[in-house]
Amino acid sequence: MSQSSVYYFDSNATTRVAPEVLEAMLPFLKESWGNPSSAYSFGHDLTKHIEDARAKVAALINADPREIVFTSCGTESDNAAIHSGLVANPEKRHILTSAVEHSANIKFCNFLQKQGYAVTFLPVEADGSLDLHLLEKSIRRDTAIVSFMWANNETGVIFPIEEIAAICRSKDVPFHTDAVQAAGKVKLDVKETGVDFLSLSAHKLHAPKGIGLLYVKRRAKFHPYIIGGSQERGRRGGTENVAGMVAFGKAAELAMEHISEENTRDRSLRDKLESEILSRIPGTIRNGGREPRLPNTSNIAFEHVEAEGILLLLDQAGICASSGSACTTGSLDPSHVLLAMGCKNARARSSIRFSLSRYSTAAEVDYLLKHLPGIISRLRAHAPVDDKTSHSAHPEAKAPTLAKVR
Ligand code: PLP
Repeated sequence: MSQSSVYYFDSNATTRVAPEVLEAMLPFLKESWGNPSSAYSFGHDLTKHIEDARAKVAALINADPREIVFTSCGTESDNAAIHSGLVANPEKRHILTSAVEHSANIKFCNFLQKQGYAVTFLPVEADGSLDLHLLEKSIRRDTAIVSFMWANNETGVIFPIEEIAAICRSKDVPFHTDAVQAAGKVKLDVKETGVDFLSLSAHKLHAPKGIGLLYVKRRAKFHPYIIGGSQERGRRGGTENVAGMVAFGKAAELAMEHISEENTRDRSLRDKLESEILSRIPGTIRNGGREPRLPNTSNIAFEHVEAEGILLLLDQAGICASSGSACTTGSLDPSHVLLAMGCKNARARSSIRFSLSRYSTAAEVDYLLKHLPGIISRLRAHAPVDDKTSHSAHPEAKAPTLAKVR
């Protein structure tokens, strides 16, 4: 399906590469394709473009360029931060994180549990928020690192990063935040918030896939995760993805330019989409608190219908969205985020995430609103009677069982 026939409401999964970004990166694929570690100028001259990109991504989060380590993606950045926390503090064997993190964090922590590390997955409230008092109490003497996402990829709920950073500082424990979904949507300032590590991924920001970064605060203890050559000042081995870095730099520059106007525009489109769905389609409810929330994200449960069916019919209408559930070997895995918020299985399995971007239009929102009510009525007309259960809260649903949500 070509881009022109797609109505895209899945910008938290990935975003369209901005034309300016593509233009900026192409010379580094077509003409200037050398290896920056080479001694001759055809290769070595590329380092100035890498440093230029590093300065631009650093500016996006108000960091010093020397605090930026380029990686291959957000997942690598998350793994690297947690790994470093453990390796740099070998006598400490506990990790504190939340039950609603991305699989880049949760699955890595599950792996570490199997290696003998202790992990606390802090529960969240029904609106997706954190109990900071509980968070503070959960930091142990042997906590090596604390990791909480800046904004949730499924609900858009924003955590109070500055307050969490202050708690961690008072306990002398390093704090990592996965800001992959927050970048370009809300202001990120590592100095103001006082985080020690922060992950970003370029493909959520109108740059291509395969490039990310980890912010490492100056003087923070850091141990590399990918070990090999001495690229990134010995902090991440591997020949540099120069085109990706340049693209990320350009995307960061554009994000800074557009952030306030985009915030207002995306928010008003999102609010229209959300309020019209909630008012026009009976049996709908928003998942997650209204604020603080990313301006582009809305997660809605549609009572008595499976998300899978909704997505199928949306797809037939050329509409891309995603669910908090995925079909794995014939069985539906409800979203671990929604379960952790206390949603019943039925509600978690009937939830759809709509996420917008700079390229979303009012016409796209109107198109969605034209098709969605009919899709839900059709599916409800065919729903078996026993599926017509209610969506009230499930007090025990806390364990992070992962569904495929990006
Ligand atoms: N963290 C969050 C919150 C995400 O939403 C994602 C991707 O969806 C990632 C990490 C992983 O990023 P990447 O796809 O670059 O590995």
